[in-house]
This record gives sequence, C-alpha cells and structure tokens, in this order.
Amino acid sequence: MTVLPDAPRATDPDILALREEFGNSPESLLDALRALKQRRGSLDRETLRELARVYDVPAERVAGIVSFYSLLSTGGRDETTLRVCDGIACWMAGAGRIRNELESTFSGLQIERNSCLGLCDRAPAAICGGRQFGPISGSSDPRDGSEWTAGLPPLRAGETRFALRRATSGKGAAFERARVPALSPEHIFEMLDAADLRGMGGAGFPAAKKWRWAAAAEGIEKFVVCNADESEPLAFKDRVLIDADPRRILEGLRIAGHAIGARTGIIYIRGEYEPQAQRLEQAIADAEAEGWLGCAPNERGISFRVSVHRGAGAYICGEETALLESLEGKRGEPRARPPYPIQTGFRGQPTLVSNVETLAMAAAICDYGLDEFVALGTHGSPGTKLYAVLGRVQNPGLFEAPRGLTLRQIIEDFGGGMRDGNRFAFALVGGAAGTFADASRLDHRLDFGHADDILPMGTGAVLVADESVSILAALREVLHFFESESCGKCTPCRIGTGETRFILDRILARQGNDRDLQRLESLSRTLTLSLCGLGTSVPLPIASALRHFRPDFESLIGEKG
Ligand code: SF4
Repeated sequence: MTVLPDAPRATDPDILALREEFGNSPESLLDALRALKQRRGSLDRETLRELARVYDVPAERVAGIVSFYSLLSTGGRDETTLRVCDGIACWMAGAGRIRNELESTFSGLQIERNSCLGLCDRAPAAICGGRQFGPISGSSDPRDGSEWTAGLPPLRAGETRFALRRATSGKGAAFERARVPALSPEHIFEMLDAADLRGMGGAGFPAAKKWRWAAAAEGIEKFVVCNADESEPLAFKDRVLIDADPRRILEGLRIAGHAIGARTGIIYIRGEYEPQAQRLEQAIADAEAEGWLGCAPNERGISFRVSVHRGAGAYICGEETALLESLEGKRGEPRARPPYPIQTGFRGQPTLVSNVETLAMAAAICDYGLDEFVALGTHGSPGTKLYAVLGRVQNPGLFEAPRGLTLRQIIEDFGGGMRDGNRFAFALVGGAAGTFADASRLDHRLDFGHADDILPMGTGAVLVADESVSILAALREVLHFFESESCGKCTPCRIGTGETRFILDRILARQGNDRDLQRLESLSRTLTLSLCGLGTSVPLPIASALRHFRPDFESLIGEKG
C-alpha cells in the first residue's frame, strides 16, 4: 500500500483574520498572541505552530515569546482568571492569605499570582478580564465587588499640583494646539535644562541632555516612545496620570516629537493597565478629531501620529532596550549597550524613550511656564514630583508636592503619620529597588543626585513599616520579585537574585549560619556586574538593609530553630 502524506490542513481562519487585523510583520506577533490568548484561554502547541506558519517565523520563536510573558503563559481565559497582586504593598496588606482563601472558596475561578499590578493605593488588589479591583477580601468573589474607577486622588492638605493641575481644576485644554509649533526645539531644551527635569521612571537622567542627543542623532526616521510599562512594586503614579489627564501625555509626546524631529509616537503600556490603555486610545481619537494629532499633515502642518502598544506581563520591559525588543514583537530581553536607543532604537532608528511623568511634566512646563515650575521647588531643587506613601500610615496614596521633601514630611505631613500611633520601624524609599531607611534618616530628603543627606528619589514611592513588620521578610519579598522578573539573560542576575532570596528564606527559617551575611554581601557585589538596571539596582535594598539593620539579621541567625 502506498503511504500518502496527510492532506494539507486549511489555515485557521481566526489566525488569518488576526494577521489581517494586526499586519503580517513579526512585530505584531505579540498583539496576535494576546488576542488569541484572550479568545481561546490557552495557547496550545498546534495553535503556536499555525501562527508561526502564517507569520512565516520559526515555531520556536513563537513559543519563546509565549514563555516570556506572564499574561500569555499563565492562566486561562481572561474573564475567569483572577490575577491577585504579589507585590510588596499587597503582601503587607495580607494578599497571600486572601489568595489562599479565594482558592479554597471559589472553585470556578482560576487564581494566579501576578507581579505588582500597579494598584498599590488599593492594596490588596487584583485584575480580571481587563478590569481592576481593590481592596479585595477572601470572602467574596472580587468580580462582584466594586471595580476600580479611574479618578484623581483627593487633594491633600499641603499638596502643590502642577502635572495634575489641569485635571484638578478642570480648566485649560489642548494648550499645545496653539503653542507647540511656536516653541523652538532649543527653547524647549533650555526650559527642561533650567527645570532640571529628570527621567521620572526611576533613573533620574537629565531629560534635556537626552532630548538634545535625540535631536542630534541621525537616521531615516525617529521615534518617541512613552514608557508606560510601570511595573516596579510601589509605583502607580503613571497610572494615576493617565487616569487623570491622558491628554497631558499626548501633549508631552507631541512636544518631544517636535523637539527631536520625530513624526511617530508610541505608548508602550503594561498589559495589566487595560482601562488606562483604553483611556489613552480615546484621548488619541479625540486629539485626532481636534486636529492636533494624526497621520496626515493638517492645515497647521502637524503630522505627528501616536499609537498604543500593550505589553503582556513582564517587568523587565520597563527597561528601555527590553521595551524596544518587545515593541518589535520579541521576548523583552535587554540589549547590550552601547549602542543606546538614542542612536539605534526601535527598528534600528534613533528613539527617545521617556517616562509618562517626564512627558507630562515637560508638557506642563511648556504650558504654565518655566518660572512657575522652578518657584515651586524646595531645598534648591526646582519643581514638583509625584510621590506615593504606602504601608502603615494613616492616609496612604499618591500626591504631588515640591521635589526634595524629607522622609518625615512624606510620612507625617502627607501620610498623616503612623497608623494607630504605632512606632516607625523602617521605610523602603524610592521603590522596590530603593533604599531601606531607619529612623536616623527621617530628616533626609528624597532627591536626585548624591549627598549624605539625600535618599535616592527612584520612583518617588515610600513604603512605611511599623515594628510588626520584619525587615528581613520585607527584603525577602523584594528579592522574590526580582528573582521572578529576572529575564535570565545574564548570570549575575539570574543566579544572584535566586541565591539571595534562598539565603533570606534560610535565615527567616532560623537556619542561617554565620557565613550567610558575608554571602549576602558578596552576592550584592556580584549583582552589580549584571547587564541591565534590574540586576544592578538590586544591591541597593540588600546593602542598605545590611548596613542599617544588621542586628535584625544577627538576632535571627543567633536564634536557631
Ligand atoms: Fe536579564 Fe537580569 Fe541580566 Fe537584566 S540583569 S539582562 S533582567 S538577567
């Protein structure tokens, strides 16, 4: 008998339709995979092979992308998968216990742990089917509770709003319609320079310098990318800015595009911020209808186009080169630098990557004027900053205030002081990759730069703990996050984060030994050799905890279980 090959199968019409919708380029693979996951709940081998065939890329590449992004590789259908936040603010608010209770009570619900959801002001929080919930409890299905509604945080006593002013007052709109073309690029750079505007994603790099380099870079075309992949535990300021005034971000993109000579803006937003992605898309549609954004040059010669690109659950995509890889439809693994994105970025072209808050501040400075911004500062630092105060304070949440506040001002003047009159034990300042500070540093101010009385600003977030919280357990949560989110590309980070977390677990289980502290110090030094900012910033919390809280480590090692 002659054995004939199987008859060719018809191509999956769903996948063909996706290619039609998103385009045939491998750049759109991530979008197609997100859509397929939403429709089908799981991505089996056959589906991935079919997708690879339709897109004409190796099947291994598609499988590699799926395994990289948590929203693709975990859970079932979006509507029946509850992703409970695993971030440090939710941990402190009891998310672990609530997750266990939900698992035992609601059998029809698939529960997944999700790295910090950026909903720290509503901890403990969860998402499901593109909706955001918090605070959740273990006794009721969170989907039946109150969904998060976008809004502006209430104005606190002493707040100074600049980036958030238009949303607060409701006055002023589309300033850039009239003014952007009138501002010369050099005038914009000079304003940003005099404002000492920094990259607000945490790095604090001077914005004027970066924008000038982008303007001077040469390429076939240039891009401005708004980094809205806010995924660092304790950071949710960009989400609030998008909720409050999405037009400000578009204005910032438009100004940056005008200043560096780019005609295309892209907003890369984390996949967990679906309501915010929709707000931005609506704002883009409104701006296009008003004629100050769009594909074709309008009567004022403006041809700046902005699109929204959703991530799929990977903290590392907030690192600018990883973000660009993800934008190109690949695994979001950081690139070796140089070359920097300013020279060789998206599609190999000069690309300015700027954080949401940086762009919103730049737009507000151009709108209200440099003098007003500078005058709002304190301690010699110009302007305002968005801060978050979280944890064991009376009034946690987000506020805008002069740059350079002391830790004490943040806790007492804006956070309302310690909750229930408990004693301050420590604070994690600047975000998860920040510094642990003890009471002796309460009068140090948060700012950029280095000085003995400065605590690194980072993302401007402060997590406050009282004496009921173990510093070692908090550090362990920080390491658990970085271990989970390490992309694994370089050895110091891949091994170092896991090994550090393992030693902390051992000490917390009262099974540590005298050499563990030396090992932690040595691992901390090794981590500085990592390829990207994830690995190189982890030593900060480790080293500061060891420096300021050594007796806490030693006492646990002394108490054998
Ligand atoms: Fe990946 Fe970590 Fe290396 Fe960055 S430092 S490239 S996240 S393994």
